[in-house]
Amino acid sequence: MLEPFRNQSYIDFSIEANRQAQDRALEEVRRQFDRVYPLWIGGKEVESGDFLKSYDPSDKQQVVGTFHRASRQHVDQAIAAAEKAFEEWRWVDPKERAIVLLRAAEILKRRRFEINAWMIYEVGKNWLEADADTAEAIDFLEFYAREMLRYSERQPVTPVKGECPELVYIPLGVGAVIPPWNFPMAILTGMTSAAIVTGNTVVLKPASDSPAVGYRLVEIFREAGLPDGVLNYLPGSGGEIGDYLVQHPRIRFVAFTGSKEVGLRINELAAKPSPGQIWIKRTILEMGGKDTIIVDPSADLDAALQGVINSAFGFQGQKCSACSRLILFEDIYEEFLERLIAATEKITIGPVRDPKNWLGPVINQASEAKILHYIAIGKNEGKLVTGGEKAPGNGYFIKPTIFRDVQPGARIEQEEIFGPVLSVLKVRTFEEAIRLANATEYGLTGSLYSRDRRHIQEAKLKFHVGNLYINRKCTGALVGVHPFGGFNMSGTDSKAGGRDYLLLFLQAKSVSEKVDY
Ligand code: NAP
Repeated sequence: MLEPFRNQSYIDFSIEANRQAQDRALEEVRRQFDRVYPLWIGGKEVESGDFLKSYDPSDKQQVVGTFHRASRQHVDQAIAAAEKAFEEWRWVDPKERAIVLLRAAEILKRRRFEINAWMIYEVGKNWLEADADTAEAIDFLEFYAREMLRYSERQPVTPVKGECPELVYIPLGVGAVIPPWNFPMAILTGMTSAAIVTGNTVVLKPASDSPAVGYRLVEIFREAGLPDGVLNYLPGSGGEIGDYLVQHPRIRFVAFTGSKEVGLRINELAAKPSPGQIWIKRTILEMGGKDTIIVDPSADLDAALQGVINSAFGFQGQKCSACSRLILFEDIYEEFLERLIAATEKITIGPVRDPKNWLGPVINQASEAKILHYIAIGKNEGKLVTGGEKAPGNGYFIKPTIFRDVQPGARIEQEEIFGPVLSVLKVRTFEEAIRLANATEYGLTGSLYSRDRRHIQEAKLKFHVGNLYINRKCTGALVGVHPFGGFNMSGTDSKAGGRDYLLLFLQAKSVSEKVDY
């Protein structure tokens, strides 16, 4: 009998023993930076001889791993292996499949500090952010295992005289799983484990900025006893093999999380049947955000301040849920901004190997250039009040940046920057605040800080986002507690970590047998 699902708690790094354990793991992981990793196809290590390197964004030249890079030929091989494995895995008792996830969760708990360390190095998460990512990955495994048991129970159908009707959920087939680098363990684990536990087989193409973290899941599932071919691991450039993978006639579904541009492209390519394809491909697409926090004059301003700082600058603003628009009422505008600027300027910036640094690097050079470009645009669209430039060091460090008096419709207020850049807007009324909050093409997360019941009620009704928070930051969704997914251009509202999620990886079969009673 399984215990009911509970979220993992976070490691308390104020405890010396935990700090030492994390430190040791960081040292151990550093010793593995010269490893060369194969592709993993049909239970075999495969070498392509063409390499992709992954770097530490806190220390630009530092390689954290070298990966054999997949070509189209490897995509064909991986899909063939996944198809073969599907013919057995699809019939495996859902309980057995759930047990594999539960075993993987236990392994991940055992390797927690090590997985944190890979994230600290490979994507520049600070210790707390890395640990939250690992905790979320464990939660996904534990939650989806239990969910699969629920979906495999007898499903309610209406009785009818003379027939014995049933409804069962069955898997789809071979899926392409394409995650982003920004939650390199959690999102990759969530999408992959949901696909696997439902009886599908997977070709996993990790993001090119985080293949080392992704490889850890392959190791974990191997140790957990996942049969060969159920999970195939293909690091490679999305630009080079992505279209081919998505368009492949033997791919039944695509689970993607990433940018709006790539998500829309996948949507379009997957909609067009390839020669020999006999199904409509299913796409699960979670994309970008331009998320807003509203603070009204009745709010607890201390709590709001902390919430804005964490949401806007946590992991350098590189979360789909990050607050990139702050809407303040004019009565509190000057006071709140003054406090926000002071608090922002106290943020410690630097290599996240050192736990004293709260703000680390952005992911890579292209991202740094894009963010600096938006900062340049912002200088004409609002008033720069802090940051606005690179921070010193050998990583992609950008100072947390705030623009005040940004006008609705400005590019920095509308487009996803995906960095530590916050636009502040001033409003007079709550209606205006909601109108501005909703006036983007996205609809992922949002928060309201208020003690005014009327405002809270209005926001619950009219703030049009997939994940709305009241008097709480707009990042940090918990599996099971805050099923996660956005509206409009933020995606297909798949609600990862919610009770509907596994349905996206299943199809329902209705069977009715005529009986004499
Ligand atoms: P991205 O550039 O769209 O990449 C996401 C994944 O797609 C990567 O694995 C990438 O591979 C791959 N890819 C690129 N081109 C492809 C193609 N033509 N066909 C198939 N796959 C392709 O996004 P990112 O920079 O990794 O992640 C940041 C974005 O993700 C932001 O927009 C953020 O808001 C969004 N995000 C959304 C959620 C959510 O739940 N809504 C959560 C997290 C992140 P390569 O790395 O090899 O290019």
